[in-house]
Amino acid sequence: MTYNTVSPQYESYLQDESRLRGSADLITFPTDAGELSEILKESSEKNQRVTFQGARTGIMGGAVPQGGIIVNLSNMNKIFQADETGTSGENNRRITVQAGATLGDVAAALRKTGLFFPVNSTEDTATLGGVYASGATGLYGLRFGEPEQYFENVKWINLRGEPRETSMGPSLLWGGGGRDGAAAELTLRLAVLPKAVWGVVYFFSSDTKLTNFASRLKSWRGQGPNAKEDLYCAEYFDYGALLLLKSDKNTPEFSADARSAIYTELRGDNEDKLEESLNAHLDLFLECGGQEDDTWAENGESGVSRFRGLRHKITELIGSAVIPGCIRAERSFHGPEDKFREYLAALRRQLDETGGIQGAVYGHLLQNHLQAALLPEDAAGAAAARALLKQWPEVLK
Ligand SMILES: Cc1cc2nc3c(=O)[nH]c(=O)nc-3n(C[C@H](O)[C@H](O)[C@H](O)COP(=O)(O)OP(=O)(O)OC[C@H]3O[C@@H](n4cnc5c(N)ncnc54)[C@H](O)[C@@H]3O)c2cc1C
Repeated sequence: MTYNTVSPQYESYLQDESRLRGSADLITFPTDAGELSEILKESSEKNQRVTFQGARTGIMGGAVPQGGIIVNLSNMNKIFQADETGTSGENNRRITVQAGATLGDVAAALRKTGLFFPVNSTEDTATLGGVYASGATGLYGLRFGEPEQYFENVKWINLRGEPRETSMGPSLLWGGGGRDGAAAELTLRLAVLPKAVWGVVYFFSSDTKLTNFASRLKSWRGQGPNAKEDLYCAEYFDYGALLLLKSDKNTPEFSADARSAIYTELRGDNEDKLEESLNAHLDLFLECGGQEDDTWAENGESGVSRFRGLRHKITELIGSAVIPGCIRAERSFHGPEDKFREYLAALRRQLDETGGIQGAVYGHLLQNHLQAALLPEDAAGAAAARALLKQWPEVLK
């Protein structure tokens, strides 16, 4: 086991995508669960503060060290043999990985199998340990439900260096940001990747038209066991998010009247059925006051991944729009279904009222789970942004 002093060579390990910056005395890169356990045993005996890191793509600052030792798991990146057939039936296909393996590594290992891991935080460089520890929801929660159920088994080491194991269901480690220990190895449940895919972006000239479309889309899809399974996601972009995309030279031009947008992804094995769903959505869009010219549609993986990239790009643009020394204020909101319309309107109104703090609201539209990011430009703006975020849960009452 090697411990390195945090010299300038390791500077970049003092921050993550939140752009917050911390400090640490030492950094170490274990390669397996045994080493990880020894490191944690020693650090607990010496009463050293420990910060775990995966790929440092987290946006909440959880991987930023506050002194002590950084345990970076990126060298624990082995992918073990995938079980492609499922030893106990179709629905039990799985793959076991070390915690530092990335979503991209897993996708590459599965490329020829027709399988995929359905928890996708959209950031391919994120590690599975990081995804698990930050409780990342992923883009396809609408189709696949709660992400925890796709982590079938997790071998982890507690802060005293003792090995532990947890199987599906609530766990100390899930979403705990590494507070109770580190994931070392994870067994992931896989799903079959349908052959056909369509991606569509619908642009709206008002949020009212958009929320009408959202509720019609929700009724069309249905709920519970009768829910139509071909709709994989419905992602919302507010006006602030569209302004960010507009500022990016690689984003194709869209209507100057657009005030909000939805990205939907449809997947299935029967192309005709998929096109039926696509046409049904287009009818809903037109009935809600949308114009056919205000849609972008693509089929096939490469076209669709460009659209999916827009969702990812918003997070990237928010990250790069942060003024140095001025952190972004970010919060994730779950709202009750019947309040969704008011919820969005209130968020937008309050953002407008701040008179100049740039901000974007985006996220899982049909699950009423949104992400709001404010980008203050100075200390006064940062105080206003924090005050505004404190008020937002009130909107949900
Ligand atoms: C452009 C972009 C888009 C993104 N889009 C999304 C999105 O759509 N949805 C979403 O949910 N997230 C999104 N994220 C955030 C990020 O990708 C996820 O939070 C990801 O899960 C973090 O993985 P990581 O390996 O980078 O973890 P890190 O950032 O290194 O760590 C995250 C947290 O997990 C802890 N941790 C890391 N590894 C372990 C381990 N093995 N055991 C215990 N604790 C550990 C860390 O201490 C920290 O608290 C996005 C990020 C970027 C940059």
